[in-house]
Amino acid sequence: MSRVYNFSAGPSMLPEEVLKKAQAEMLECGDSGMSVMEMSHRSKDYDKIIKGAEALVRELMNVPDNYKVMFVQGGGSTQFAMVPLNLGIKCKAADYIITGQWAKKAAQEAEKYIKVNRVASSADKTFSYIPKTTAADFSSKDEVDYCYICFNNTIYGTRYTKLPETEATLVADISSNVMSEVIDVSKFGLLFAGAQKNLGPAGVVLVIAREDLIGEPMEGTPTMLTYKTHADNDSLYNTPPTYAIYILKLVLEWIKEQGGIAAVQKVNEEKAKLLYDFLDSSKLFKGTVEKEDRSLMNVPFVTGDADLDAKFVKEATAAGLVNLKGHRTVGGMRASIYNAMPVEGVKTLVEFMKKFEQENM
Ligand SMILES: *Cc1c(COP(=O)(O)O)cnc(C)c1O
Repeated sequence: MSRVYNFSAGPSMLPEEVLKKAQAEMLECGDSGMSVMEMSHRSKDYDKIIKGAEALVRELMNVPDNYKVMFVQGGGSTQFAMVPLNLGIKCKAADYIITGQWAKKAAQEAEKYIKVNRVASSADKTFSYIPKTTAADFSSKDEVDYCYICFNNTIYGTRYTKLPETEATLVADISSNVMSEVIDVSKFGLLFAGAQKNLGPAGVVLVIAREDLIGEPMEGTPTMLTYKTHADNDSLYNTPPTYAIYILKLVLEWIKEQGGIAAVQKVNEEKAKLLYDFLDSSKLFKGTVEKEDRSLMNVPFVTGDADLDAKFVKEATAAGLVNLKGHRTVGGMRASIYNAMPVEGVKTLVEFMKKFEQENM
């Protein structure tokens, strides 16, 4: 069996070069005489890996000096609690825009600790668009500690192309679009991303936070859920997910070799255009998202007939195009085309869709 084109929403494809490098270094990494998995997280060899990963995040994302870069555990979902516990301390309130499941879950979790204002939502149309807002929709910065968005909505396939006009500190979940497009870090107070979509294996979360936001958290906050713990200890307060961070570093080196995030973004735009252009011209398939809010990473589409959708997914799988089944709340199909998906994979998918259309119309 050869490698397939994996359109999974996450965990998702990794660049083949990265997997090969990891394979070559599996038994002995550098001249350490051991696998990265066997290294002490306090060793000189491992220090090079974690410091190297942080330096690459700073370089690739152009992170300003007054921001901390942290690697923490617990997946993206743990950030749903860490954000309010650490940032929701003055006003004990925050604005949330509900653009899908992940934003909804984040708001529900925050509500355990602070007051949550759901300032806008696209639930009325199954989250198929980004709600339009104006400055007047948001609380003032004296009323809330932050305003929270999910930048790219993995399940529904929408993304922000223009940031909300809030005067409060902006916090964003960038789990599914991190390093897929250029993001101006200075516009945000805090950004976080679970690694398993664009950065590496599950088990590590990248957090980028402005220093002035990293202080004493809410009383009773566990040590491990306190940003200060990780910031003050260079992400080595306890044993970090060492192997996941190592793979993440290899992925960042790969992004750098591609020419950096702007270059990767160009390829991502090309891939998304191939697929969206076909969807717009197809008589059988159609995209489910408002055109102006379309994600570059997650592309949901349907035929309008659930049986035909199932047939498509089955035949695509047999042709080596796997994990195209849509999320259970949307139905149909979803192609996740993260950084590691080659242009060739998207071309192959579009050709397959054309053939399926001819055979089933
Ligand atoms: C996958 C995902 C999450 C959840 O990540 P876990 O690591 O599974 O907790 C959160 N937000 C977004 C946008 C995601 O795509």
